Amino acid sequence: MNKIFLILLTIIFVVGLIFINLFANIKLKSPKTNIKELVYSNSLYINTRDDTVENLLEDLRLKVIRNLDRLVISDYTYKNNESLNTIASMYGTDVNTICSTNYIEAIGLLYTGKRLVVHNKRGLLYKVKPGETLTTIAKKFKKSEEELLLANDKPGIYEFQTGEYVYIPGAYLRFKDFMVPMFNSKITSGFGNRIHPIFGVLKFHEGIDLKQKYGTPVRASCDGKVIFAGWAEGYGKLVILKHFKGYTTYYGHLSKIRVKVGTYVNKGQIIGNVGATGWTTGPHLHFEVRKNGVPVDPRKVF
Ligand SMILES: [Zn+2]
Repeated sequence: MNKIFLILLTIIFVVGLIFINLFANIKLKSPKTNIKELVYSNSLYINTRDDTVENLLEDLRLKVIRNLDRLVISDYTYKNNESLNTIASMYGTDVNTICSTNYIEAIGLLYTGKRLVVHNKRGLLYKVKPGETLTTIAKKFKKSEEELLLANDKPGIYEFQTGEYVYIPGAYLRFKDFMVPMFNSKITSGFGNRIHPIFGVLKFHEGIDLKQKYGTPVRASCDGKVIFAGWAEGYGKLVILKHFKGYTTYYGHLSKIRVKVGTYVNKGQIIGNVGATGWTTGPHLHFEVRKNGVPVDPRKVF
Protein backbone atom coordinates (compact mmCIF):
# COMPACT_ATOMS: atom_id res chain seq x y z
CA MET A 1 0.00 0.00 0.00
CA ASN A 2 2.79 2.37 0.99
CA LYS A 3 4.74 1.39 -2.11
CA ILE A 4 1.82 2.07 -4.42
CA PHE A 5 1.24 5.42 -2.74
CA LEU A 6 4.92 6.31 -3.20
CA ILE A 7 4.82 5.37 -6.91
CA LEU A 8 1.65 7.43 -7.40
CA LEU A 9 3.24 10.39 -5.63
CA THR A 10 6.32 10.08 -7.86
CA ILE A 11 4.13 9.96 -10.97
CA ILE A 12 2.17 13.03 -9.82
CA PHE A 13 5.44 14.81 -9.06
CA VAL A 14 6.92 13.99 -12.48
CA VAL A 15 3.76 14.92 -14.33
CA GLY A 16 3.63 18.11 -12.25
CA LEU A 17 7.21 18.93 -13.22
CA ILE A 18 6.42 18.38 -16.88
CA PHE A 19 3.42 20.75 -16.61
CA ILE A 20 5.40 23.41 -14.77
CA ASN A 21 8.07 23.14 -17.41
CA LEU A 22 5.53 23.48 -20.20
CA PHE A 23 3.95 26.58 -18.62
CA ALA A 24 7.35 28.05 -17.97
CA ASN A 25 8.13 27.58 -21.65
CA ILE A 26 4.92 29.28 -22.68
CA LYS A 27 5.62 32.07 -20.26
CA LEU A 28 9.07 32.55 -21.67
CA LYS A 29 7.81 32.57 -25.23
CA SER A 30 4.77 34.73 -24.65
CA PRO A 31 6.27 38.26 -24.75
CA LYS A 32 7.45 37.75 -28.32
CA THR A 33 4.33 36.07 -29.63
CA ASN A 34 2.01 38.52 -27.90
CA ILE A 35 3.30 41.50 -29.85
CA LYS A 36 2.96 39.61 -33.10
CA GLU A 37 -0.53 38.54 -32.21
CA LEU A 38 -1.52 42.07 -31.34
CA VAL A 39 -0.40 43.34 -34.70
CA TYR A 40 -1.50 40.48 -36.93
CA SER A 41 -4.32 38.61 -35.31
CA ASN A 42 -5.98 40.69 -32.61
CA SER A 43 -9.37 41.22 -34.17
CA LEU A 44 -10.23 44.31 -32.12
CA TYR A 45 -7.06 46.08 -33.12
CA ILE A 46 -7.64 45.35 -36.79
CA ASN A 47 -11.28 46.39 -36.59
CA THR A 48 -10.41 49.92 -35.48
CA ARG A 49 -8.31 50.30 -38.62
CA ASP A 50 -11.06 48.98 -40.82
CA ASP A 51 -11.95 51.40 -43.61
CA THR A 52 -15.69 50.85 -43.21
CA VAL A 53 -15.56 51.86 -39.52
CA GLU A 54 -13.47 54.93 -40.36
CA ASN A 55 -15.84 55.86 -43.17
CA LEU A 56 -18.89 55.43 -40.94
CA LEU A 57 -17.36 57.68 -38.29
CA GLU A 58 -16.43 60.26 -40.93
CA ASP A 59 -19.95 60.18 -42.40
CA LEU A 60 -21.38 60.71 -38.93
CA ARG A 61 -18.98 63.58 -38.22
CA LEU A 62 -19.90 65.27 -41.51
CA LYS A 63 -23.61 64.79 -40.88
CA VAL A 64 -23.22 66.58 -37.55
CA ILE A 65 -21.16 69.38 -39.13
CA ARG A 66 -23.69 69.85 -41.96
CA ASN A 67 -26.59 70.20 -39.57
CA LEU A 68 -24.97 72.41 -36.95
CA ASP A 69 -26.24 75.95 -36.72
CA ARG A 70 -22.92 77.38 -35.69
CA LEU A 71 -19.87 77.78 -37.90
CA VAL A 72 -17.52 74.77 -38.02
CA ILE A 73 -14.12 75.14 -39.67
CA SER A 74 -12.25 72.04 -40.78
CA ASP A 75 -9.05 71.09 -42.61
CA TYR A 76 -9.29 69.11 -45.81
CA THR A 77 -6.56 67.53 -47.90
CA TYR A 78 -7.40 67.58 -51.59
CA LYS A 79 -7.03 64.32 -53.53
CA ASN A 80 -6.30 64.21 -57.24
CA ASN A 81 -9.25 64.84 -59.59
CA GLU A 82 -11.70 65.12 -56.71
CA SER A 83 -14.67 67.31 -57.56
CA LEU A 84 -15.11 70.47 -55.50
CA ASN A 85 -18.87 69.87 -55.78
CA THR A 86 -18.52 66.63 -53.81
CA ILE A 87 -16.43 68.28 -51.08
CA ALA A 88 -18.87 71.19 -50.90
CA SER A 89 -21.92 68.94 -50.50
CA MET A 90 -20.12 66.86 -47.84
CA TYR A 91 -19.81 69.98 -45.70
CA GLY A 92 -23.17 71.46 -46.65
CA THR A 93 -21.65 74.39 -48.49
CA ASP A 94 -20.96 75.38 -52.12
CA VAL A 95 -18.01 75.50 -54.56
CA ASN A 96 -17.92 79.32 -54.49
CA THR A 97 -17.41 79.19 -50.73
CA ILE A 98 -14.47 76.77 -50.99
CA CYS A 99 -12.87 78.80 -53.82
CA SER A 100 -13.31 82.11 -51.99
CA THR A 101 -12.00 81.00 -48.59
CA ASN A 102 -9.00 79.24 -50.14
CA TYR A 103 -8.36 81.82 -52.85
CA ILE A 104 -8.64 79.16 -55.58
CA GLU A 105 -8.65 81.16 -58.78
CA ALA A 106 -8.97 78.03 -60.93
CA ILE A 107 -9.85 74.37 -60.41
CA GLY A 108 -6.90 73.47 -62.67
CA LEU A 109 -4.52 74.79 -59.98
CA LEU A 110 -5.57 72.17 -57.42
CA TYR A 111 -3.29 69.22 -56.73
CA THR A 112 -3.19 66.16 -54.48
CA GLY A 113 -2.13 67.09 -50.96
CA LYS A 114 -3.22 70.72 -51.16
CA ARG A 115 -4.57 71.80 -47.77
CA LEU A 116 -8.01 73.38 -47.94
CA VAL A 117 -10.00 75.16 -45.25
CA VAL A 118 -13.66 74.10 -45.45
CA HIS A 119 -16.63 75.26 -43.41
CA ASN A 120 -20.32 74.46 -43.15
CA LYS A 121 -21.67 77.96 -43.85
CA ARG A 122 -21.85 79.67 -47.23
CA GLY A 123 -19.69 82.72 -47.64
CA LEU A 124 -16.10 83.72 -47.12
CA LEU A 125 -13.70 83.02 -44.28
CA TYR A 126 -11.59 86.14 -44.23
CA LYS A 127 -8.19 86.34 -42.52
CA VAL A 128 -7.78 89.67 -40.70
CA LYS A 129 -4.85 91.74 -42.04
CA PRO A 130 -2.71 94.05 -39.87
CA GLY A 131 -4.51 97.32 -39.11
CA GLU A 132 -7.98 95.98 -39.88
CA THR A 133 -10.77 96.20 -37.32
CA LEU A 134 -14.34 95.00 -37.07
CA THR A 135 -15.42 98.42 -38.41
CA THR A 136 -13.16 98.37 -41.48
CA ILE A 137 -14.00 94.73 -42.28
CA ALA A 138 -17.75 95.37 -41.96
CA LYS A 139 -17.38 98.35 -44.31
CA LYS A 140 -15.25 96.38 -46.79
CA PHE A 141 -17.91 93.67 -47.17
CA LYS A 142 -20.93 95.98 -46.78
CA LYS A 143 -22.16 94.24 -43.63
CA SER A 144 -23.20 95.65 -40.28
CA GLU A 145 -20.87 95.09 -37.32
CA GLU A 146 -23.73 93.41 -35.45
CA GLU A 147 -24.31 90.95 -38.28
CA LEU A 148 -20.62 89.97 -38.34
CA LEU A 149 -20.46 89.49 -34.56
CA LEU A 150 -23.60 87.37 -34.62
CA ALA A 151 -22.36 85.24 -37.55
CA ASN A 152 -19.09 84.61 -35.71
CA ASP A 153 -20.69 83.77 -32.33
CA LYS A 154 -18.94 86.69 -30.65
CA PRO A 155 -20.25 88.56 -27.62
CA GLY A 156 -21.48 92.17 -27.85
CA ILE A 157 -18.05 93.79 -27.68
CA TYR A 158 -15.32 91.99 -29.53
CA GLU A 159 -12.33 93.00 -31.63
CA PHE A 160 -10.84 90.64 -34.20
CA GLN A 161 -7.08 90.11 -34.07
CA THR A 162 -4.66 90.08 -37.00
CA GLY A 163 -4.59 86.59 -38.53
CA GLU A 164 -7.93 85.62 -37.00
CA TYR A 165 -10.66 84.24 -39.26
CA VAL A 166 -13.83 86.26 -39.69
CA TYR A 167 -16.76 84.54 -41.34
CA ILE A 168 -18.53 86.87 -43.78
CA PRO A 169 -21.95 85.33 -44.56
CA GLY A 170 -22.85 85.20 -48.24
CA ALA A 171 -19.67 87.01 -49.39
CA TYR A 172 -17.66 85.54 -52.26
CA LEU A 173 -14.46 86.49 -54.06
CA ARG A 174 -14.89 87.18 -57.73
CA PHE A 175 -12.05 86.10 -59.98
CA LYS A 176 -11.41 87.33 -63.50
CA ASP A 177 -12.27 84.96 -66.36
CA PHE A 178 -8.63 84.89 -67.53
CA MET A 179 -5.48 84.27 -65.50
CA VAL A 180 -1.81 84.84 -66.30
CA PRO A 181 -0.74 81.50 -67.84
CA MET A 182 2.47 81.21 -65.80
CA PHE A 183 3.42 81.97 -62.20
CA ASN A 184 5.99 84.67 -61.35
CA SER A 185 6.72 85.48 -64.96
CA LYS A 186 7.89 88.85 -66.22
CA ILE A 187 6.46 90.59 -69.29
CA THR A 188 9.53 91.23 -71.44
CA SER A 189 7.64 92.51 -74.45
CA GLY A 190 4.23 94.18 -74.45
CA PHE A 191 1.30 94.27 -76.86
CA GLY A 192 1.40 96.62 -79.85
CA ASN A 193 4.01 98.11 -82.18
CA ARG A 194 7.62 97.19 -81.53
CA ILE A 195 10.89 96.64 -83.34
CA HIS A 196 10.93 92.91 -84.01
CA PRO A 197 13.82 91.23 -82.09
CA ILE A 198 14.83 89.03 -85.06
CA PHE A 199 13.83 91.03 -88.15
CA GLY A 200 14.77 94.47 -86.77
CA VAL A 201 11.72 96.12 -88.36
CA LEU A 202 8.65 97.80 -86.87
CA LYS A 203 6.05 95.08 -86.45
CA PHE A 204 2.79 94.80 -84.51
CA HIS A 205 3.23 92.41 -81.55
CA GLU A 206 -0.08 90.58 -81.30
CA GLY A 207 0.47 89.33 -77.75
CA ILE A 208 2.81 89.60 -74.81
CA ASP A 209 6.06 87.75 -74.11
CA LEU A 210 6.41 86.18 -70.69
CA LYS A 211 9.92 85.24 -69.64
CA GLN A 212 10.41 82.04 -67.68
CA LYS A 213 12.92 79.19 -67.44
CA TYR A 214 12.90 76.54 -70.19
CA GLY A 215 10.40 73.79 -69.26
CA THR A 216 8.23 75.86 -66.88
CA PRO A 217 4.60 74.63 -67.02
CA VAL A 218 2.25 76.79 -69.09
CA ARG A 219 -1.37 76.85 -67.91
CA ALA A 220 -4.70 77.45 -69.65
CA SER A 221 -5.67 81.07 -69.04
CA CYS A 222 -9.38 80.19 -69.02
CA ASP A 223 -11.63 77.11 -69.34
CA GLY A 224 -11.80 76.09 -72.98
CA LYS A 225 -11.43 73.63 -75.84
CA VAL A 226 -8.15 72.83 -77.58
CA ILE A 227 -8.64 73.79 -81.25
CA PHE A 228 -4.99 73.66 -82.32
CA ALA A 229 -1.97 71.79 -80.94
CA GLY A 230 1.01 71.53 -83.24
CA TRP A 231 3.60 73.41 -85.27
CA ALA A 232 2.83 76.83 -86.75
CA GLU A 233 5.33 78.99 -88.61
CA GLY A 234 6.82 81.65 -86.37
CA TYR A 235 5.01 80.37 -83.29
CA GLY A 236 6.87 77.04 -83.21
CA LYS A 237 4.97 74.57 -81.06
CA LEU A 238 1.61 76.27 -80.52
CA VAL A 239 -1.59 75.59 -78.58
CA ILE A 240 -4.80 77.52 -79.34
CA LEU A 241 -7.76 77.37 -76.94
CA LYS A 242 -11.33 78.44 -77.71
CA HIS A 243 -13.29 80.06 -74.88
CA PHE A 244 -16.64 81.77 -74.28
CA LYS A 245 -17.94 84.82 -76.24
CA GLY A 246 -15.58 84.39 -79.22
CA TYR A 247 -12.38 84.53 -77.19
CA THR A 248 -9.33 82.44 -78.14
CA THR A 249 -5.88 82.27 -76.50
CA TYR A 250 -2.55 81.39 -78.14
CA TYR A 251 0.48 79.84 -76.41
CA GLY A 252 3.58 79.91 -78.62
CA HIS A 253 7.25 78.79 -78.66
CA LEU A 254 6.47 75.78 -76.41
CA SER A 255 9.07 73.06 -75.89
CA LYS A 256 6.37 70.49 -75.23
CA ILE A 257 2.63 70.32 -75.96
CA ARG A 258 0.65 68.43 -73.33
CA VAL A 259 -2.91 68.54 -74.70
CA LYS A 260 -4.72 67.09 -77.72
CA VAL A 261 -7.00 68.84 -80.21
CA GLY A 262 -10.69 68.45 -79.32
CA THR A 263 -10.19 68.02 -75.56
CA TYR A 264 -11.45 70.42 -72.90
CA VAL A 265 -9.15 72.04 -70.36
CA ASN A 266 -9.78 73.77 -67.06
CA LYS A 267 -8.47 77.21 -66.27
CA GLY A 268 -5.07 76.68 -64.64
CA GLN A 269 -4.52 73.24 -66.15
CA ILE A 270 -1.04 72.57 -67.56
CA ILE A 271 -1.17 72.55 -71.39
CA GLY A 272 2.54 72.67 -72.26
CA ASN A 273 6.01 73.82 -71.26
CA VAL A 274 8.02 76.93 -72.01
CA GLY A 275 10.44 76.54 -74.89
CA ALA A 276 12.18 78.37 -77.68
CA THR A 277 10.62 76.82 -80.79
CA GLY A 278 9.81 79.01 -83.82
CA TRP A 279 11.13 82.56 -84.28
CA THR A 280 12.56 83.43 -80.89
CA THR A 281 15.80 84.61 -79.35
CA GLY A 282 15.40 82.56 -76.15
CA PRO A 283 12.96 80.59 -74.02
CA HIS A 284 9.72 82.48 -73.32
CA LEU A 285 5.99 82.17 -73.78
CA HIS A 286 4.29 84.20 -76.48
CA PHE A 287 0.73 84.66 -75.23
CA GLU A 288 -2.17 86.08 -77.24
CA VAL A 289 -5.80 86.79 -76.46
CA ARG A 290 -8.10 87.27 -79.43
CA LYS A 291 -11.71 88.37 -79.49
CA ASN A 292 -13.48 87.11 -82.65
CA GLY A 293 -10.02 86.64 -84.16
CA VAL A 294 -8.77 90.17 -83.40
CA PRO A 295 -5.80 90.37 -80.98
CA VAL A 296 -6.47 92.34 -77.79
CA ASP A 297 -4.04 93.37 -75.06
CA PRO A 298 -3.91 90.37 -72.64
CA ARG A 299 -3.16 92.73 -69.73
CA LYS A 300 -6.70 94.09 -70.10
CA VAL A 301 -8.35 90.67 -69.46
CA PHE A 302 -6.34 89.54 -66.40
ZN1 LIG B 1 5.77 87.43 -78.71
